[in-house]
Amino acid sequence: MDPIVECNCTASELMIFPCAGACSVGQLSNDLAKKMSKEGIGKMACIAAVGAGGPMAIKAANDAKIVLIIDGCPMSCAKKIVEKAGIRPTLQVLVTDIDMKKTDILGYSDEEMERAFKMTLDRLKNVPR
Ligand code: SF4
Repeated sequence: MDPIVECNCTASELMIFPCAGACSVGQLSNDLAKKMSKEGIGKMACIAAVGAGGPMAIKAANDAKIVLIIDGCPMSCAKKIVEKAGIRPTLQVLVTDIDMKKTDILGYSDEEMERAFKMTLDRLKNVPR
């Protein structure tokens, strides 16, 4: 018998889905979602679970007041994944909007993280609550 495995994604007012791509901007997206979640600014959730059709992650996103997508670049993979699952994103931010280059280096500078963090908080301020 298969074990029952449940996703840890539970609804929160602000749910954060990073693309977590295998490049500079994708890794920043993931770490930015972690930073926000650790600081109590929303809850990071599993984009992979949504892509796999995980019912808990999809329900949690549908129950959230705000669904924030953090994509590394204009390919908008995380946004496309949630939309395919029937979830409407409230806000999408692109890490490349801070003029950061997408490279295959899996890292970024502290300054780039701070700029992406500030940009995301600034855009969140304009979301009606
Ligand atoms: S949005 Fe860009 S960085 Fe993120 S997974 Fe897609 S291609 Fe990679």
